[in-house]
Amino acid sequence: MYDTVGTMSVQLLYNWVWPGQAKALLEWHNVSRFCGHCGEKTVPMEAGRRKQCPNGSCKKRIYPRVDPVCCLLFLSVDLIKG
Ligand SMILES: [Zn+2]
Repeated sequence: MYDTVGTMSVQLLYNWVWPGQAKALLEWHNVSRFCGHCGEKTVPMEAGRRKQCPNGSCKKRIYPRVDPVCCLLFLSVDLIKG
């Protein structure tokens, strides 16, 4: 689980992060089905990384919300050394 004492494997962290990003993107697709400006049904663009309102007078671009997050994992020295 650890490359060195007290340092978590980068691969392990990656394995925990990408399912969370996928879940967040799927949820964003679910809640951004309609334009918040005019109410028209939105269309996915750029392989689903943004949405576009097809209404010619609106054409609002909608992007997933980015929330800065800091995650900490505190471990006991006794737990690491086993
Ligand atoms: Zn619109």
